[in-house]
Amino acid sequence: MADRQTATGDIGLVQAFVNTADLQDGPEELEDSNTLQAWLVAKGLLDSSQTADASDLKHAIALREAIRNVIGASSGLSRIYPVDVATLNGTASASGLRMRFGAEGKARLEPESPGVVGAMGRIVATLYSAMEDPDWTRLKLCSSPPCRWAFYDRSKNHSSRWCTMASCGNREKARRFRSHTKTDS
Ligand SMILES: [Zn+2]
Repeated sequence: MADRQTATGDIGLVQAFVNTADLQDGPEELEDSNTLQAWLVAKGLLDSSQTADASDLKHAIALREAIRNVIGASSGLSRIYPVDVATLNGTASASGLRMRFGAEGKARLEPESPGVVGAMGRIVATLYSAMEDPDWTRLKLCSSPPCRWAFYDRSKNHSSRWCTMASCGNREKARRFRSHTKTDS
């Protein structure tokens, strides 16, 4: 949707990964191992000579949903499940993330593993640096339960709750109104 707010930099990459699926209306961008490979190459996380398989796809989707819950927890909306923590830690270990200093003298986490395993490690490393950014808390999940889109809250007092007021905000208000009148009658 055109009016959904997007972030840039590390937060923007985390947001783009989580939003490869529009849970409510579709599409699912990571529908097979080829679209996963193409997405990772397009984001500069994978060399175009490397391929992805079905288990990479399964892992990528598990990682994506774990990160969605991390964002939900930081916006006070949902909790992080033990399986999400295991997925994040497993990805970090499998990719062999280690600290490296670049030529400019700045430290960053880089994976030792090649291929999609390494690319998944780059996403976890990006999540780590995104969480260090003071604007991290602006990345939120939409409060509408079927939506759970990751949006970047640009409002002055960080008070936005829905990815778009026009769609999710109004739908949620209507839903609450209906359930409220039901309990009252
Ligand atoms: Zn929404």
